[in-house]
Amino acid sequence: MPTYQYACTACSHEFEAIQSFSDDSLTICPACSGEIRKIYSAVGVVFKGSGFYKTDSVAKKTTGESTTPAPATPVTPAAAAPATAAPKAD
Ligand SMILES: [Zn+2]
Repeated sequence: MPTYQYACTACSHEFEAIQSFSDDSLTICPACSGEIRKIYSAVGVVFKGSGFYKTDSVAKKTTGESTTPAPATPVTPAAAAPATAAPKAD
């Protein structure tokens, strides 16, 4: 069951609601019956750390992909081969 985080726009009351995917989003604040908004859905992710971690992970992945074509290019064997794989050293 995913947990959704809501915040009331009227009284700033924040709460979590466990709903199934088929359930409609909540719209009424249980504290003041005011209008609420969904902040995010926390489905197996850590709270505010998730966004940063996600971005960091994507950045690293992008960097890795950019270097991936290098070993596959025969024109730059020196750049692709690390020091441990260079037997021609004196
Ligand atoms: Zn409220």
